[in-house]
Amino acid sequence: MAVSEELKIQEAVGRLKESGVRITPQRHAVLEYLLNADIHPTADDIFKALEGKFPNMSVATVYNNLRVFREIGLVKELTYGDSSSRFDCNTSEHYHIICETCGKIVDFHYPSLDEVESLAEQVTGFDVSHHRMEVYGTCKDCKAVTKH
Ligand SMILES: [Zn+2]
Ligand SMILES: [Zn+2]
Repeated sequence: MAVSEELKIQEAVGRLKESGVRITPQRHAVLEYLLNADIHPTADDIFKALEGKFPNMSVATVYNNLRVFREIGLVKELTYGDSSSRFDCNTSEHYHIICETCGKIVDFHYPSLDEVESLAEQVTGFDVSHHRMEVYGTCKDCKAVTKH
């Protein structure tokens, strides 16, 4: 494992401890998986990846851990209206591009659209809390499959 990943895990474990969350081996494994996954996994993805290592673990355990992580701000829950929620451990501001074929979600960075929020406030008189923007298309992997 790369040093930076090891550090990310240590930092996250530190935050859990500060919040009084007990670190069980399963909880640690879920956290580690999340921090190393760049696919924005669902609870099911995490369960499938870890069930071999923890035969007593259930999907409910994974959900329970994800809820704890979300409550202390370690992960963001992404709901894009389709099936199950996906989880993102990159809690800094960023946007997502979503593959319409396989459902993969990829991060990309673009200056946050603050002007849109202030314009919306001016035009509508709302107090704006946040905005959502998603970009959709076909990912590289799916494009390669279609070409064959
Ligand atoms: Zn795809
Ligand atoms: Zn993301």
